[in-house]
Amino acid sequence: MQLTLQQALDVLQQHRLKLTHQRLTLLSYLNDHRDHYLNTTQIDDYMRQRFPNMSHNTVYKNIRKLKQLGIVEERFADNHQQIKYQCDFTNPLHGHFICQNCGKVTELKTNLTELIQRDLPDYQINHQQIEIYGICPECQKKLKSANNHPSSLTN
Ligand SMILES: [Zn+2]
Ligand SMILES: [Zn+2]
Repeated sequence: MQLTLQQALDVLQQHRLKLTHQRLTLLSYLNDHRDHYLNTTQIDDYMRQRFPNMSHNTVYKNIRKLKQLGIVEERFADNHQQIKYQCDFTNPLHGHFICQNCGKVTELKTNLTELIQRDLPDYQINHQQIEIYGICPECQKKLKSANNHPSSLTN
C-alpha cells in the first residue's frame, strides 16, 4: 500500500513529532519525487535554500528520523546516501526495479522475504535490499523511437 503524504504526517503525529514547516517541506519534496531516489546532499541543498538558518545537522537529523519511522527508504549508490519516500509502508522489505535510463523506481509486489526464507531456512535475516536493474517500458519506447529518428534525440 502506497503511503500518502497525509499518512506520513499521521505517523509523525503518532510519534509526537511536531509538524514543523521544515518537516512538511521535506516530506512534500520527497512526495513530489516519490519514484526516484534522491541524494541526501541534494535534499540538504534544497532545504537550506529554503531555510538558510537550518544547519546540515538538522537536515540529516530529520532524514534519520524519517528513516527510523519507516517513512523513507535508504540505499547507497557510489558511496552516496540516497533516500526515497517509502513505497510500501505495510511491507518495508519489498524489492525495487530501478531504470538505468531515467532512474524511476518501481516496487516489486512479490513477497520476497518468503522466497528468501525458503532458501535460507536456518538463517536470521536482519536486512535485505533487492534491486533489479534494466530499462523501464517508457524508456524502451523512447529509446526505440530515438533510434528510428536520430534527430529527435536533441529535442
Ligand atoms: Zn520501496
Ligand atoms: Zn526509464
